[in-house]
Amino acid sequence: MDSAGAPAMSEFDVELREVTKHFGDVVAVDRVSLAVERGTFLTLLGPSGCGKTTTLRMIGGFEYPDSGEIYIRGVPMGRTPPYRRDTSMVFQNYALFPHMSVAENIAYGLRERKVDKATIERRVEEMLRLVELEGFGKRRPRQLSGGQQQRVALARSLVIEPTVLLLDEPLGALDLKLRKQMQLELKRIQERVGITFIYVTHDQDEALTMSDRIAVMNRGRVEQYGSAEEIFERPRTRFVADFMGAENILDAEVVQADGRSALVRVAGAQLPVRGDGLQAGQRVALVARPYRVKLLEDPAHQDALWQATVQERVYKGSSVAYLLQLATGPQLRAEVLVGAGDGHAEPGRQVGVAIDPTHVVIVRE
Ligand code: ATP
Repeated sequence: MDSAGAPAMSEFDVELREVTKHFGDVVAVDRVSLAVERGTFLTLLGPSGCGKTTTLRMIGGFEYPDSGEIYIRGVPMGRTPPYRRDTSMVFQNYALFPHMSVAENIAYGLRERKVDKATIERRVEEMLRLVELEGFGKRRPRQLSGGQQQRVALARSLVIEPTVLLLDEPLGALDLKLRKQMQLELKRIQERVGITFIYVTHDQDEALTMSDRIAVMNRGRVEQYGSAEEIFERPRTRFVADFMGAENILDAEVVQADGRSALVRVAGAQLPVRGDGLQAGQRVALVARPYRVKLLEDPAHQDALWQATVQERVYKGSSVAYLLQLATGPQLRAEVLVGAGDGHAEPGRQVGVAIDPTHVVIVRE
C-alpha cells in the first residue's frame, strides 16, 4: 500500500514490532521492538556489527524484515520500496550528484515529484538558509568542504519533507572539530524542522549530545531504550554501562532481596542497595562513578568498606584522579575534588574506601 495513502492515526512516527533479519546464519537484528514518538531525535547506538545499520535500512525499505513488522505513522510497511515510503536517508558518503550544482542537488527530489518551478526555487532557498549555505547554490559539490557537502546532503533529504529522516553515521568522514560542530548543528536543524530523526552511530558522546532517545544495541537486540540521561546515569546491563564508559564496574552477588532493595556482596564487603526485581543468589555488577568513591586517609575509618593501596595519583587541576587497588582484588577509580581537604593520599599509601550506596547502580550481567 502506498504510504502516502489514507493517513492512519498513530502517535508514533515509526514503530518496530518484533523485527528480525538474518543474513545467512547471522542474526543481524533479533526481535527488535521500538516505538518512536513524533519529532524525536533517536540514536541507534552500539558497537560495530550490532545491527544498527540493518535496522535503519529496514526502516528505509532498503532491506525487508524476515519477520515482524515496521509501521510508519501506523501504516505497516511490508515490502514497500524506499521511494514509496515517507522516509529519506542521509548516507555517510553524502552521495551527491557531482555533475549537478548544489541547488540542483537539493531540488532533485522535488523535480522527481513534479513540483512547480517557483515552489522548487523557494524551497531550495529555504533549505540553503536552514543549513547555512546561502549563496552556495551555484557551486558544484567538489568545490565544497566535507562539512558543507554533508549539509547539502541533509538539505537534499529534508526538502521533500519526509516523516522520518534516517542518518547512517553521516558525520563519520569529518574531523573531530567539525564533527562536534555538526552534531550541534544537526540537533538545531532537527529542532527547527520538528521531524523525527533516526541516527546511527557507534560514538556514545555523539549520541549523548544529540539524542532525545537512545537505543543501545548489542548483538542484534536493543539492550536499553531511554533518554540520554537514563542510559548514562542508570544503565540496566553491564554491556550498556561498559559501552557508556563507566569506569568502575565490579562483580557482585545478591545476598538477600525483598523486591525493592537488596544486600549485595562486592569484593568481600556488603552493601545495601536499591534495586527492583533482584533475587538472592543472582550475579550482578555494581557501577559507581569515580566522584562517588570516597577515599579515607585512615584505613581503619569506621565508614571504610574496603582497604586499598593507592596505585596512581593524577592531578587534574580541579580534581585528583586515583587508581585504588582493593585488598580484596579489584581496582577502583576515584576522583576527589581539590580543596576537599580530607581524602587525599600519595601512591603507596594504605587507605580506606567507601561508596555511598544511594549513588551506585546495580546492573544485570
Ligand atoms: P557497523 O557500525 O560496523 O556498520 P552495524 O551495527 O551497523 O555495524 P550491521 O551493518 O547492521 O551492523 O550488521 C549486523 C550484522 O549483519 C553483522 O554481523 C554484519 O556482518 C551482517 N550483515 C550486514 N549486512 C549484511 C549483508 N548484506 N550480507 C551479509 N551479512 C550482513
